[in-house]
Amino acid sequence: MQLIFLGTASCYPTAHRAVSCTGLRFEDGFVWLFDCGEGSQVQVQKSSIRPSRITKIFITHLHGDHLFGISGLICTLGNQVMDRKDFVLELYGPRGLRRYVREVLCLSRSPLPFPFRVHELIPMDDQLPRNWSSWGVTQEATGPPHPQELPGRDICAENGVWEVFEDDSVSVQAGRVKHRVPTFGYVITECTRPGKLNVEKLKELGVKPGPLYATIKGGKEITSPAGHIIFPTDVIGPPIHGRKITILGDTYNSDQMLDLVRNSDVLVHEATLEDSMKEKAIENGHSTPSMAAEYALKADVRKLILYHFSQRYKSEPTEEEKLLEKQASGTGDQTLDEEGSDDKDVSYVSILLSEASSALECSNCSVMVAEDLLEVDIPRVIST
Ligand SMILES: [Zn+2]
Ligand SMILES: [Zn+2]
Repeated sequence: MQLIFLGTASCYPTAHRAVSCTGLRFEDGFVWLFDCGEGSQVQVQKSSIRPSRITKIFITHLHGDHLFGISGLICTLGNQVMDRKDFVLELYGPRGLRRYVREVLCLSRSPLPFPFRVHELIPMDDQLPRNWSSWGVTQEATGPPHPQELPGRDICAENGVWEVFEDDSVSVQAGRVKHRVPTFGYVITECTRPGKLNVEKLKELGVKPGPLYATIKGGKEITSPAGHIIFPTDVIGPPIHGRKITILGDTYNSDQMLDLVRNSDVLVHEATLEDSMKEKAIENGHSTPSMAAEYALKADVRKLILYHFSQRYKSEPTEEEKLLEKQASGTGDQTLDEEGSDDKDVSYVSILLSEASSALECSNCSVMVAEDLLEVDIPRVIST
């Protein structure tokens, strides 16, 4: 299982960093996307993701830097999955997503060679901001559906949890986080698999492959040909725990889904601005590195990955760029950043990492900052 960061910026894309879109690739090669900011289809093409393997898209909230890429991406997928007869693209997101996708695809008369479904998470009343009704917009999809649109589910919270998806191997649940519009975080949990059967040991005990293998794998004891009772724990390894990954949308406070997030192997959390700008971050519905780190500690997560950085933070320059920089400054040819300011004012993403690292000092939680196209392996934990 891998996380593939396609876009790690907040607000708007630049030539250097794309907006929110995170891929989760499973062992079978299928990929789920979490958010789909403008230009995500270009980022997918730059990455190791095969577009034809994208089967589900989860949207945390309807702000443009998380949503504006969805219609373009869907149309691009149309060219990739022509040969998959049974393919249905499943989309999940807050109420309003169905209307958005339907109207954009219908108004642009975009034909699709596959069907799609939009499942909506219905926010609770107290998730709506005070000025919600001042925008005279209807969230509900009322008009005729797109020719390829299948009915989707309306998912309401049960005890504060939205049960989004479940199959034999993995489940997805959503919880609410605080931002400026109704926003969700997604928790992806793999099922725990039984440990491996020690076939060599069974053979040594005289038990040949056959129905007895299924019996002991099913948790029942068996008797060897020599009359010895063999217990499952004698020949089955420790259970292989499923991984738990949490990907939160924009937030300044996610306490309401703390129980859901608890013990995640990986927490992907926004850190839009540095700690000294905490007040501004909260005012805009966002977090700083220390806020993300404190949440990771509260939730007992093992790895924190920060993303959704303000475009004011540049990536660390490469050695080559540093050399060019030095040469330029040596000749008095000052390099200007894109706002035209002197580059003495440039802030780097590394400041966000060091602030989170300090907050996590002496803890068991590791931290890293994401960058566009970064791939992070998530190994399975085998209990001993
Ligand atoms: Zn955002
Ligand atoms: Zn937002």
